[in-house]
Amino acid sequence: MMYNTKAYSATSAASPLASTTIARRDPTEHDVQIEILFCGICHSDLHSVRNEWSEFLPTVYPIVPGHEIVGRVTKVGSAVTKYKPGDLAAVGCLVDSDRTCPRCKAGLENFCPNLTLTFNSPDKHLGGVTYGGYSDSIVVDEHFVLRVPSNLDLAGAAPLLCAGVTTYSPMRHWGITKGKKVGVVGLGGLGHMGVKFAHAFGAHVVVFTTSPKKKEDALRLGADEVVVSRNADEMKKHAGSFDFILDAVSAGHDINAYLNLLGLDGNLTLVGAPAKPLGVSAFGLIMGRRNLSGSNIGGIPETQEMLDFCGAHNITADVEVIPIQKVNEAYERVVKSDVKYRFSIDMASLKSE
Ligand code: NAP
Ligand code: ZN
Repeated sequence: MMYNTKAYSATSAASPLASTTIARRDPTEHDVQIEILFCGICHSDLHSVRNEWSEFLPTVYPIVPGHEIVGRVTKVGSAVTKYKPGDLAAVGCLVDSDRTCPRCKAGLENFCPNLTLTFNSPDKHLGGVTYGGYSDSIVVDEHFVLRVPSNLDLAGAAPLLCAGVTTYSPMRHWGITKGKKVGVVGLGGLGHMGVKFAHAFGAHVVVFTTSPKKKEDALRLGADEVVVSRNADEMKKHAGSFDFILDAVSAGHDINAYLNLLGLDGNLTLVGAPAKPLGVSAFGLIMGRRNLSGSNIGGIPETQEMLDFCGAHNITADVEVIPIQKVNEAYERVVKSDVKYRFSIDMASLKSE
């Protein structure tokens, strides 16, 4: 049983996003149907729409991107216990997993070998691939639905579902607390959330940016210092001094410059996912027993923990709210690093299509 809903999709790597109609399943017993109110634009949406990750996650067209979803519950299946119509609800990057593997049992569904991503993953119910949040509504198993603290602005809360948890999770994992020196590389959607969390955890936060005009914003967002990374002298001042650096850059860049800024046993975690491999100098790692690691979004329990933390500390993304009709323009601006600091689509604009 299916119903039709409005969406924006791209039909090839070179096509702009355009209005379309897609099918969603009618909610089965464990499902929650959500009317989407806001959906953030993540750089992963662009990588996928343009098939830039063809080697790892080839795109199946048409693609409906979007995995930073907040909305209101419109219907629930007979076995649903956590949500009822009218509740605020959110969906991030995951809509299913095998739920039986050790990772799922540990609440790390984000590392399940059989996870179903919110878009461009095989759809177990309808065949084809899953369709994301650039849409009027979505149907998701209640296990993968999150609660949104009622005090948060919804447009600014949407990006927490990916940019938020992707930066929160590695900082929790690597023990970022008061007294730690933390670097954040790339002040985009992820980076600006990384700054907010590192600041909220009490760390000394240094932002590395290629955009000198973002300096004031970085300080306002919670940075203690800002370094323009193209300036070698400014970089040198921080050599060997960091406990942790979060790299949220979407394109190729020299990570050795950042490995050299880590102290003894320091850790550089990649969350940015450039399409091409990054070159690593062995010396940058062996001199100082440094670590290079990566992190993928967050599990469902930690995503809820992050949302609750944001509720308690009144943390949301800084968003530019746009109608869906401006999505292609917004993509061009994301590519130019011209976003302050996340686009959030007001999905009411889709109703006029
Ligand atoms: P974004 O908003 O476009 O931010 C990326 C930032 O990287 C830019 O604002 C810019 O910051 C910097 N940058 C861009 N091009 C650069 C270049 N050539 N050299 C150096 N710096 C450059 O993107 P986002 O949505 O935050 O996503 C960032 C990356 O994380 C993407 O690759 C995305 O796919 C990935 N991602 C990963 C996960 C995960 O689970 N691991 C989750 C979500 C997203 P400055 O202007 O400050 O230099
Ligand atoms: Zn994302």
